[in-house]
Amino acid sequence: MVEQINKANIERHARHIMLKEIGGHGQKLIANSTIAIIGVGGLGCPCALYLAAAGVGKLILIDDDVVDLSNLQRQILFKTSDIGRPKVIAAQEALNAIDGDIEIIAVKERINGQNANELLANADIIIDGSDNFKTRFLINKTAYDLKKVLVSGALGRFDGQVAAFDFSDPQSPCYQCFVPDTPPIEEDCNILGVVGAICGIIGALMALETIKIITKNRETSLLGRILLYDGLKAQSRTLNIPKDRNCNTCGHH
Ligand SMILES: [Zn+2]
Repeated sequence: MVEQINKANIERHARHIMLKEIGGHGQKLIANSTIAIIGVGGLGCPCALYLAAAGVGKLILIDDDVVDLSNLQRQILFKTSDIGRPKVIAAQEALNAIDGDIEIIAVKERINGQNANELLANADIIIDGSDNFKTRFLINKTAYDLKKVLVSGALGRFDGQVAAFDFSDPQSPCYQCFVPDTPPIEEDCNILGVVGAICGIIGALMALETIKIITKNRETSLLGRILLYDGLKAQSRTLNIPKDRNCNTCGHH
């Protein structure tokens, strides 16, 4: 528990502390937060970089993959010399090089129905940077069962989306209210391609929403809403997600 921000950290986080929406109190909330990131890929990399730079207390990184040459076009935590290394270990080193005080738990596992509850139980906020619907539905269900905050992101070729849910509120919709079933053709950047910079935009938006929720800027957050960004047209729109009473996850069964 961080009670006081020390002198070095006041200087490090000065541009946060001078914001009335964050301030010294908000920076202490950030320093006391535990964030789990599932998927250290296109979304997880930029998101983790901004959260580490922001001074979060503890980051739990969950990914069973190793760095591949074809990742480097967008997964900006990794260097050419990291090829073949576990992503969570390379990420842990890179993030601790920004701020050695951040506790980073590297979990080289694939999240599944057996380990999800245990891996996510201690997180204040769960960030879904996974790349398939099966995992997204599992994370959504786990976050719902644990009554956590979920920040969810997804990418297309030139576009992306971000949504947030607070499952401590029984009235909150969930990800599956918006996407009830796996679409017939699952979009996969391994097949469709993805422009690297869109990962940075969407991953940074996920970090920003996380910081807003931690620092109690909830009224203007994406909680219960989804932001859709079309990078090719340079257009965005935000939709309210209505709660689906028949939702498989959060509806009346
Ligand atoms: Zn739902």
